[in-house]
Amino acid sequence: MSEPVDLQELDRMRPPAEAREIIAAHLPRLGTEHVSLREAMGRVLARDITAPEDYPPFPASTMDGYAVFSQDHSPWREIIGTQNAGDTIDAEVTEGYAVRIMTGAPLPLGADAVVPVEATELMEDHVVIHQEDVAIGENIRPVGSDVARGSLVLPAGTRLGPAQVGLVASMGISPVPVARRPRVSVISTGDELVEPDQPIGPGQIRDSNRFSLIAALLAEPVEITFAGKAPDKLEQLEALLRERMATDDIIITSGGVSMGERDLIKAILFDTDDVQVHFRRLFMKPGKPLNFATCGDTLIFGLPGNPVSSLVTFELFIRTAIRQMIGETEVDRPIVRVTLTEGTSPSDRMEYQRGVVYADRNGKLIARSTGLQRSSRLASFLGANALLVIAPRETNYAAGETVDALMLGAPIPTP
Ligand code: AMP
Ligand code: MG
Repeated sequence: MSEPVDLQELDRMRPPAEAREIIAAHLPRLGTEHVSLREAMGRVLARDITAPEDYPPFPASTMDGYAVFSQDHSPWREIIGTQNAGDTIDAEVTEGYAVRIMTGAPLPLGADAVVPVEATELMEDHVVIHQEDVAIGENIRPVGSDVARGSLVLPAGTRLGPAQVGLVASMGISPVPVARRPRVSVISTGDELVEPDQPIGPGQIRDSNRFSLIAALLAEPVEITFAGKAPDKLEQLEALLRERMATDDIIITSGGVSMGERDLIKAILFDTDDVQVHFRRLFMKPGKPLNFATCGDTLIFGLPGNPVSSLVTFELFIRTAIRQMIGETEVDRPIVRVTLTEGTSPSDRMEYQRGVVYADRNGKLIARSTGLQRSSRLASFLGANALLVIAPRETNYAAGETVDALMLGAPIPTP
């Protein structure tokens, strides 16, 4: 038996920060799997990587040249061998002798410096050193100088990019322990929706949310297990949701959360015993009718149908939730303080305006909105690299005032 629901509390307009806390409190932590180095890009490390060995594992030359004894002042040296990368020769460098050495090759016994080939002159089996003073350790990378054995190279929770994948490989770790990818479904709802490649009839529109949401998801390590659309028919929609709840970690629907009779997502989530609805309204614009429910460990996000609302709510809540589930350290987009270039009138709710953040010539961050902010106008995202947070208040915002900006991309230089 489920507890009686306090409808007034359920439908209270929650500030976005409270909604994020509620979501965070219901996230399962996904397990670990091992993937090959070639598949590790974009995944999140499931455990700390400490260096099992020194890197470089031997004192290595950083130049092509001659391995010498630094205190040797002989006018010329006899070359007693060649040290290539990947082998070790059996020769000891003493006064009057040198070994030809290649970049990355181990320093031969007795040598304590490398003179680059540019500072030498070869005369048959001798080499003349034209460099006045040769310091101990010159052009040599000491053992463990890049990474010391036992040091923490990458903490658990790190997102693997090209450099991180290279570091993991250089530490000899293969396969790589990473968080399992959440299984995600994307479902567009609405009788009016048609496929983008189909002709549209009267009153119809093309389904764009499914594709913008998939595109937004592709930047995260997720497995998209299903993507499709469903009509505003109770039984069909419910059957599809049930099917997805059985296998997915996250179900994202769009549409069907407004106040209309055909807005079935709200009704379906609410009517079922094993589904817990956590909130249905937020104190924000766009995105007021965002629904959040759970069924066991499955998260269900009922996004508003308007294309801008669905992307903004994805950005604020779902991206963060995914990153938390996989144990990623960086879960939020960075927030910076920006100066408005033009005034704006606040809404009655917390507003997230699509904006462009510039760095002016002094490095000061300035911002302007991308124009008409209506929630159906997907073009308001074009050129935007930030969401400008315009808090509700009595008076208008004037040019020169500062607000928070949630950065979606890097600030751009003054155009
Ligand atoms: P709803 O939340 O179902 O009332 O939808 C709100 C608005 O968003 C309506 O104008 C819908 O036609 C539009 N909409 C809903 N779903 C989509 C979608 N998948 N792609 C584009 N627009 C949509
Ligand atoms: Mg609809």
